[in-house]
Amino acid sequence: MTKPPLIWTNVALFTITFLGAAILVPWYGLTYGYGILEWLAFIGFAFASGLSITAGYHRLWSHKTYKAKAPVRFLYALGGALALQNSALHWSSDHRVHHKHVDNNDKDPYSAKMGFWYSHIGWMLREYQAQRYHDYKNVRDLQNDKIVMWQHKHYLALALIMNIGLPAFIGWLNGDMLAMLLMAGLLRLVVVHHCTFFINSLAHVWGSQPYTDKNTARDNGVIALLTYGEGYHNFHHIFENDYRNGIRWWQYDPTKWLIKALSWGGLAKDLRVTPQERIESAKLQMQLKRTQNRIALLPNGDELLEKLQAEYELLKRHLADYYLAKKELLEAKRQQLANQHLMQKVDELKLRFQTQQKNWQLLMASYA
Ligand SMILES: [Zn+2]
Ligand SMILES: [Zn+2]
Repeated sequence: MTKPPLIWTNVALFTITFLGAAILVPWYGLTYGYGILEWLAFIGFAFASGLSITAGYHRLWSHKTYKAKAPVRFLYALGGALALQNSALHWSSDHRVHHKHVDNNDKDPYSAKMGFWYSHIGWMLREYQAQRYHDYKNVRDLQNDKIVMWQHKHYLALALIMNIGLPAFIGWLNGDMLAMLLMAGLLRLVVVHHCTFFINSLAHVWGSQPYTDKNTARDNGVIALLTYGEGYHNFHHIFENDYRNGIRWWQYDPTKWLIKALSWGGLAKDLRVTPQERIESAKLQMQLKRTQNRIALLPNGDELLEKLQAEYELLKRHLADYYLAKKELLEAKRQQLANQHLMQKVDELKLRFQTQQKNWQLLMASYA
C-alpha cells in the first residue's frame, strides 16, 4: 500500500522547531545564559497555550462540558494560536471524530491502534484525512461562535503574532529579544506540542482502565502532570461530557481547577458533571468483568461465578437505592421539605451500601 503524500509544511515545522529546541536553546543558554524572566515566561506561556488547548479547544469547544463568556473564549483563541495546533474549529472536528470512532484505524484520525508514532505525530505528517475537511459538518454548532470563526479565518496571522511577535516584544522590553524568543517561543512550543500529543499517544497505551476497556484510553497520574490534567483519559473517554478529567480532589487536573475558578468569577457556567452513581456503576462493572475472567479458569469456577454475580447484584441494588434516596433528599431540601425521617433513611441506605461495598472489596481481594 502506498502511503499518502507528505505534508511538507508540517514535516518542516515539527523538524525545525524540534532541532532548534534541542540544539539552539541549550547552546544559547550555555553561551549567554537565561535570566529568571525568561524561565518565568517559559512557564507562563506553557500554561497559557496548554490550558487554552485543554480547557478551550478540548473541554469547551470539542465537548461543550461548560459555557464560557466571550473574553474567556477570546483568550482561548489567542492561546490556541500560541499552541500552534491548528484552529479550534479544525481541532474540535478531529477530536469529535476521535471520540466517535476511537481506535478505528479507518476513521479515528489519531487511532492508537496505528502505533505510538502515528497517534503521537505521524498522523499530522501525511495527507491521511484530506477528504474530511471540506465542510466541517461535525462542528456546525461551533460555526455559530464568532470567536471560533474569527480565529479560524486569521489563524496563520494570529499564530505568527503570538509565537514570534509577542515573545519578541517582551524580550525587547527585557533587553534580550533572542533569549525570550528561544525560551517563551521555541522551547515552550516544542515542549507543549509533545506534552499535549501525549494525550493521543501515551494516554492510550500506558495506565489503568478503571471505567471501561471498550477502548484503549488509560488513566495515568504521571501523564496528567504533563498534560494539564488530561491524563485521566479512561474516565474522559467514557464520560466525555464531564468538565473534569481527574474527578478526585487529589488528582492533578489544573484544567478542571481553571474552569471551576472561572465559574466562581462568573466567567463560566453550566459545568457538567456525571452523576456519581453512573461513575460507581461503571467501575463496578469493570471489577465484575475482570474478576469473572479470573475465576472462570478455577476448578470450582461456576460456583464462584454464581456467588460473585449475587454479590454484584446486591451491591448494584444498594447503590441504586442509596443514590435514589439521596436525590429525593436533595429535592426535598430544595423545596424546604427535608425532614428527620428522610435524612435518617439516607444515612441508613448509605451505611448499607458501604457495608456491601466492603464485602465486595473483600471478595475481590480473595480472588486477586
Ligand atoms: Zn476528548
Ligand atoms: Zn483519546
